[in-house]
Amino acid sequence: MLQLSALSDIRQQCEQVRCQGLRIGFVPTMGALHEGHLSLLKAAKEQNDVVVCSVFVNPTQFNNAEDYKLYPRLLVEDAEMLAQVGCDVLFAPSAAEMYLKPAKLTFDFGSLENVMEGAHRPGHFNGVATVVSKLFHLVRPHQAFFGQKDLQQFAIVQQMVQDLSFDLELVCYPIIREEDGLAMSSRNRRLTPEQRQIAPKLHEALQLLETQLAKTSIEEAKQAAVQFLSNYPQLRLEYLEVIDANTLQPIEQLQEAEKAAICLAAFLGEVRLIDNVLVAKK
Ligand code: AMP
Repeated sequence: MLQLSALSDIRQQCEQVRCQGLRIGFVPTMGALHEGHLSLLKAAKEQNDVVVCSVFVNPTQFNNAEDYKLYPRLLVEDAEMLAQVGCDVLFAPSAAEMYLKPAKLTFDFGSLENVMEGAHRPGHFNGVATVVSKLFHLVRPHQAFFGQKDLQQFAIVQQMVQDLSFDLELVCYPIIREEDGLAMSSRNRRLTPEQRQIAPKLHEALQLLETQLAKTSIEEAKQAAVQFLSNYPQLRLEYLEVIDANTLQPIEQLQEAEKAAICLAAFLGEVRLIDNVLVAKK
């Protein structure tokens, strides 16, 4: 596996690959890799000739300086895992080179970002859109792989690709979970053993809400899930929404949406976790 950090090197490498008529599959990450990331890499490998993975803890998408500072950075371990799943190129640039000067361009995704993560993390999606655009221009992939774990991020990147005519296909893969249901996340590493025991309650709450939806109104189903979570005072719920998975807007009745999802964010100590489930149509 080739490991590159300079922008000129990744540009040149990807250009060479393209000139050979080979297809590039790209997986952007912030590292501290787990099985969720690896599922994207395996899919990228199956569907492309060359797989590029970026590991970059992007400063501009953090609205909390402490979260940025404490975000796990494990490049040596990441490189080993990537080599094992057959990744061809690891691109791990420095923040200094990615942002030679602070970016001035800002993105506004309107209603797609006025809810959930966008509402609670001001500037987050501006940072995401900036870095994903830069990475798409550097790598020029045929396909880029993202996780449903960041459902709102996928919708935003999809909008950006459409609005700016990026010449690539976006692919979204399901959430990989631990055996007890906790969605895999790099931030799980920061949980204490006691917090780790409680963290799966978030997924249980999503499942409870989904079951309740078959029997009662969205409002009552949400109340039941909030009530369930109140048994675990260490969990501080930030939002819990039943949304139209296409528009991301909260809905009051399931029939309003072609595809619905239940999304939440919660703090466990200082660690902020997100999770979601797509609502199966009965
Ligand atoms: P991150 O390193 O957290 O920025 O994530 C990089 C990519 O991996 C994003 O597209 C995420 O949605 C995806 N991802 C993160 N966690 C999971 C998971 N548990 N299952 C599947 N994909 C994931």
